[in-house]
Amino acid sequence: MSEIHKFLFDGLPVRGVLVRLTDAWTEVLRRHASGSAAGAYPLPVQNMLGEMVAAATLMQSNIKFNGSLILQIFGDGPVKLAVVEVQPDFGLRATATVIGDIAADASLSELVNVNNEGKCAITLDPKTRFPGQQPYQGVVPLFGDEREKLEKLSEVLEHYMLQSEQLDTTLVLAADDKVAAGLLIQRLPMAGSGNLAGSLVSQANEDEIGINEHYNRIAILASTLKREELLTLDVETVLRRLFWEETLTRFEPLAGEAAPRFSCTCSRERVSKMIFGLGLEEAQSILAERGDIEVGCEFCGLQYHFDPIDVAQIFRVTGDLPPSSEAVQ
Ligand SMILES: [Zn+2]
Repeated sequence: MSEIHKFLFDGLPVRGVLVRLTDAWTEVLRRHASGSAAGAYPLPVQNMLGEMVAAATLMQSNIKFNGSLILQIFGDGPVKLAVVEVQPDFGLRATATVIGDIAADASLSELVNVNNEGKCAITLDPKTRFPGQQPYQGVVPLFGDEREKLEKLSEVLEHYMLQSEQLDTTLVLAADDKVAAGLLIQRLPMAGSGNLAGSLVSQANEDEIGINEHYNRIAILASTLKREELLTLDVETVLRRLFWEETLTRFEPLAGEAAPRFSCTCSRERVSKMIFGLGLEEAQSILAERGDIEVGCEFCGLQYHFDPIDVAQIFRVTGDLPPSSEAVQ
């Protein structure tokens, strides 16, 4: 079963999270394989998306935030878009859009960063927004300091964490067709509040980047974790093997009822709004061409069917005329 384990290193400014997703991940794959005409994802895409699912779950469990965390890669290669969305209760969904052929051993850059123009975005979308409030979004490229293409998603996200939070982070990610798993080790931010204190603290935090010996020691231990180990060993074995010389304070794991699970937030109402957004003219032209409007959810594979009466209702019930309807004679 899927599970999340959080822990602290006693007396040290270092915390960790280990996630191991099984059913939550295989359900993402099953929905895609049965819902799409192309069938299952090519192996390299499957593994990249699995690592993204593990990473997004780690990041959601590592922040105090009541809203969804969305991890996206906008690719310039055969994978145009890969999206993972994790809700605060760890309901999650994911999908990737693939156009073109993919070699069985394609690297990350061959999938999403052929011309070094791929981007990775992390969006925090609060559950309740103040009027006019926009979701927070941070974007990083898929290259390093020397514009060299990064071949590991973990490196891309470590870069992001350093930029956005000024915190050293080590990530180990792995996925296959059964498990998506990840380990996050992070240097704890220093406590502090208030403007002046806050800026002093953030300066002190920046001064610690890369030089905290406790963090560095633990990060090196974490980075010895191999893909195969992360995929096949249970959580207890992984933690014991890596950190047997350290003293950990463990938190109650999120498992069973509280475990991450597949969950899609699509609804007929949302699809209706999308059709309304197309405008009456566009909706009518689809109807004229195909007789009805069929919209499939790319995350869960559900098909939403709208016949001409449904469509007429969408535009009547909402009252307002959509912008493009002015063009209709
Ligand atoms: Zn759906």
